[in-house]
Amino acid sequence: MLIIQKYGGTSVGTPERIQNVARRVLATQAQGHQLVVVVSAMSGETNRLVDLAHQISSDPIGREYDQLVSTGEQVTIALLALAIQSQGGQACSFAGHQVHIRTDNAYSKARIKSIDGSVIQKELQQGRVVVIAGFQGMDPEGNITTLGRGGSDTTGVAVAAALKADACEIYTDVDGVYTTDPRICPEARRIPKVSYEAMLELASLGAKVLQIRSVEMAAKYKVPLWVKSSFNEGEGTLVTSEEKDMEKVAVAGVAFDKNEAKVAIRHLADKPGIASQIFNTIAEANINVDMIVQNVSAEGFTDLTFTIPKSDLKKALKAVEQQAQKLGADKVEADEHIAKVSIVGVGMKSHAGVAARMFSTLAERKINIQMISTSEIRVSVIVAEQDMEPAVKALHAAFELEKD
Ligand code: ADP
Ligand code: ASP
Ligand code: MG
Repeated sequence: MLIIQKYGGTSVGTPERIQNVARRVLATQAQGHQLVVVVSAMSGETNRLVDLAHQISSDPIGREYDQLVSTGEQVTIALLALAIQSQGGQACSFAGHQVHIRTDNAYSKARIKSIDGSVIQKELQQGRVVVIAGFQGMDPEGNITTLGRGGSDTTGVAVAAALKADACEIYTDVDGVYTTDPRICPEARRIPKVSYEAMLELASLGAKVLQIRSVEMAAKYKVPLWVKSSFNEGEGTLVTSEEKDMEKVAVAGVAFDKNEAKVAIRHLADKPGIASQIFNTIAEANINVDMIVQNVSAEGFTDLTFTIPKSDLKKALKAVEQQAQKLGADKVEADEHIAKVSIVGVGMKSHAGVAARMFSTLAERKINIQMISTSEIRVSVIVAEQDMEPAVKALHAAFELEKD
């Protein structure tokens, strides 16, 4: 079989752990498999590089930012190849561009366009383990690009899709995808099998165990995706196409996200064209809006509230405050101390009353819901930041997610 293994930052966080990865890789190869290994930077390293950039520049973006933050992965590929060699194996390390991982030129959030597998295949045929830097690629002009935080997952899946690998295994510090983040809720339970659809929602709503794009790509190319621990031999979680037995449970998991901020524009005229002007301004500033709530109007005026990434708040306020003034609004308010809590499950399609149960669970704990949004397979609410953990725990218990 051809297997792609991706090891995250914690799994390659120290020289001992890199030796541990090398041992696992060689054990897999010894079972007769061909192996491509994608690695992240050592844990904390990408944050360190981002921090350095901010010490030098107030708004570090673009080519040089990607050039900088991509370097962490270059260290780990070489160290892992050396570790494999030191244990008697054969390995060769490659930066993204050396195995032709081609992307568009959207720095810091580049999308992989193609991977030419010929270099990798040649190495595999020589019996070598191929070690590839995650998170990075090259744009059409030859500049180094990066794929967004957590992007090594996407490199792993993209390589698996390009080589039509038999399996893609994401090794991390938890032994699978859980009903919620086990760091927040110790009762969280490993989900043995989850659909691409539910996993995509969980990832989009804040479960960072897999990068969103890696799940999108796995679904598109039908890559069988495993999430496993690099520290034990557990079974892990299989992310795969929806199957009959997955539909039984209404709620598969609880996700949360502290990275959004809320903006409210008070006392806006309630007439055609106002929302369009506000949100066009935000779109022009290249800011993604998530939830939007417009109150029922009273005497021709209304309030408009929406959420955006916290990191874009300053930029958003600058754009919106001018616009709101022009439109005669009373004021613009911002709140950074909010969190989004979501319940997710493909089974919701056929179960009634799931949202009602969520709201009554939060009401019992006296947790105030500030905003609500729903889709076929999820319900999300915005709550105060300090209510996030109690909300996650209460919902986990209310939907009996600790039970098999
Ligand atoms: P890596 O460095 O290996 O890519 P990440 O830190 O990106 O690892 O992702 C693993 C982390 O994701 C876990 O340590 C866990 O705290 C967090 N996490 C959030 N939600 C979930 C979930 N539903 N199941 C498992 N882990 C989760
Ligand atoms: N090293 C990058 C990050 O910290 C990519 C990854 O770990 O997947 O975001
Ligand atoms: Mg990750």
